[in-house]
This record gives sequence, C-alpha cells and structure tokens, in this order.
Amino acid sequence: MINKPFGHLGYDVSAVGFGGMRFDTKQSDSENADLVLYAVDQGINWLDTAPSYCDDRSEDIFGRALRHLGPRRSDVYLSSKGMPEACDTAEKARAAVEKSLRRLNTDYLDFYYVWCIRRLDEYESAMRPGGQYEGLLRCKEEGLIRHIVVSTHLRGPDVQTLLSNNEFDGVLLGVNILNFLYRWDGVKAAHRQGLGVAAMNPLAGGVIPQNEQTLAFLAEKGETSTEAALRFCIGCPQISVTLVGFTTRQHIDTACRVAEQADPITDEHIERIRSRLSQNMDSLCTGCGYCMGLCPVGIPVAGYMQYYNDKLLTGKNDGEMAKTLGIQKKFGMLVGAPPAGDCIACGRCETACTQRLDIVRRLNTVAQWEQSGIGESQK
Ligand code: SF4
Ligand code: SF4
Repeated sequence: MINKPFGHLGYDVSAVGFGGMRFDTKQSDSENADLVLYAVDQGINWLDTAPSYCDDRSEDIFGRALRHLGPRRSDVYLSSKGMPEACDTAEKARAAVEKSLRRLNTDYLDFYYVWCIRRLDEYESAMRPGGQYEGLLRCKEEGLIRHIVVSTHLRGPDVQTLLSNNEFDGVLLGVNILNFLYRWDGVKAAHRQGLGVAAMNPLAGGVIPQNEQTLAFLAEKGETSTEAALRFCIGCPQISVTLVGFTTRQHIDTACRVAEQADPITDEHIERIRSRLSQNMDSLCTGCGYCMGLCPVGIPVAGYMQYYNDKLLTGKNDGEMAKTLGIQKKFGMLVGAPPAGDCIACGRCETACTQRLDIVRRLNTVAQWEQSGIGESQK
C-alpha cells in the first residue's frame, strides 16, 4: 500500500481508505468486522463510517473491529459524520459525537465531518452561533475529536466558498474518472488551500464495474475499467485518500494491487482521459461544463445530463430513474435545482454542448419522471 500526506496536517494516510457504506448486511457484524481487520492488515489505515450506513450497522461493525485492534487503534485514522440538519444545536452535535464514540468503542475520532453539505445555506446553518460547528469545537477542545472536516456535493466555485474561511482541516468530495471534469475545480481549490482531500464514490456508485465493456475505453492495456477508475483517484496527487466501499476481501485485494502499481496521474493523463471521454461517450454527457451558466431559467444542465447518463449506461426503467432522481434531488448533484420541466426550450445549452446532446428532449423525459412523483419519498 502506498501512503500519501493528508494536506497540511501531514498525516501519512493510506492511498486507499475503507469506506464503510457497502458491507454485506447478510453477513454478521462479526464477519464484517473481520473484513475491516483484513483491510488493516493489508496496510489500509483510514476507516470511514457514518450513522445510518448499512442499515445503521456500520459504526457497530467498526466498533467490533476496533475492539480487536486494541492498542493498534492508534495506527488507524477513524472518521464519522453528523448532518447539520440533524445536529442543529451545539448540544445535539455533541450528543451525536458521543453516540458515535460509544458505538465505535473508542474515546476519540481522528476526523469528524460536517456531513453532506448540498447547499451553502446548510453550511451557514452549521456555522451559526450555538450550532453544529460550535458543538464540534467544544468536542475538539475536550479531545473527543481531533479534526473537524467537511463533506460536500457542491460544485467547484461553491466548494471554494465553503473552504474560504479555513474552518475545516480536510474535505470529502465525490469525484471519479467519469465526473471529474464537472468536479475538478473543487478538488483543485481544496488542494491549493493545503487541505487533505478524501475522494468518495470512485466507482460512480457501481456504474463503472457494472458497465465494464461500455467503459473499456477508460482502461489502459491489461486493466479493467474498474481498475482504471481506482487508479485515477489513487494516482491523483491532489487526492490524499480514496474511499472504496468494500464488501469482500477480493475488493480489498484489487484496490491494494492498484494502489501498489499506480503511478501519479499527470496533466497529460488528465488530457488523455478528457479526450477519450469526449470521443467515446457519444451519447453521454462528459461533464465538460460548457453548457453551464447559460440557462435563462437556471437549470443546471450538466447535472441533469450526468444523471441521465445513468439511464444510458444501465438501462434503468422509468420507475428506477424516477427513484434515482429523488435521491439526486435530495442528496446529489441536483439539490436545489429547478425542475427539468421549467425548460423553455430556448436551445442555448444545445448550441454550447460539446457532445451535441439532444438536451431539450432529455429534459422532457426527466420532467415526466418528475411528474410521476415516484422519487419524492426517496431518502
Ligand atoms: S434549452 Fe432549456 S435547459 Fe437549455 S438553456 Fe434553454 S431553457 Fe435552459
Ligand atoms: S456541454 Fe454537453 S457534454 Fe458538456 S456538460 Fe453540458 S451537457 Fe454535458
């Protein structure tokens, strides 16, 4: 396993982190804890969890693993999270930290996230006097947490705003080989600021392993597109740790093997991937962002088209797409977006689109999924 510095903190963190959101919930907590211990034995020293992951069992699973680690607890970096809307007072923020510590069988967390900032008003809510951040600062003073960090789905310029006051010691961003054009400004902004960057979703939520053939153009000779996607995040100098949601030992072995062999991703590599994306993703949105900021009614066209990629890659039916839409509007890249049905078909985005996508027709289809109401109850 190669290690990397975590921003200005300088911690020597493994390039691959254990993302605790994809445990096999048919297995017992004890069997899943063994998986964590196996990962630690392979050199993975970053363990990431949160309340609610895996039917709310993830923290308990890590807690079992940490009990087995005993004095080796100090060899790993442990992170958990709390959402501003659930921790809307300093007292609730502290109570959430204490609950995580209890479940994790530890007396400190190395990192604690202000979790899932989707809009800047959520950040402002976390920072208000008497709010979550204040509670976390007190936890930090008492040694319950060592660093306050933030996880966000904001786009590049808003990530810069989020980080501009130096309140956080690191950031967790959803970035991968398919969406990086859309997300790269945020990664670069955090790196420029000297912050450690953790990458989540390196396999695009399973889209890449499920579409190995379609996405084969991402891979170099002798590797799969899944390996290419892992190598991309692991090899990016701007990313300190890539969180991979492991379910099996084989997943861990693959990520460790890629990390052993990954050369740094250079600007030349990035250009090569950019060009392959635009040449091979004929009917897919590449996330290049050329359509952004043009829409007279404020529709984030790239966000909708990236979401629509899922339909083309996976062939989901209307009901499944409507459900995914609900999730994207609640937690993903479409939070706060005006409905697709607001499109007035002016055509500006289609003129600017580097892929010449039929955006208006696609937005019409998305509008039908919106009207079905199926996604509205999604969590
Ligand atoms: S065609 Fe629709 S989405 Fe595109 S810029 Fe015009 S109003 Fe916005
Ligand atoms: S210009 Fe086209 S390909 Fe690029 S982000 Fe916009 S919709 Fe996607």
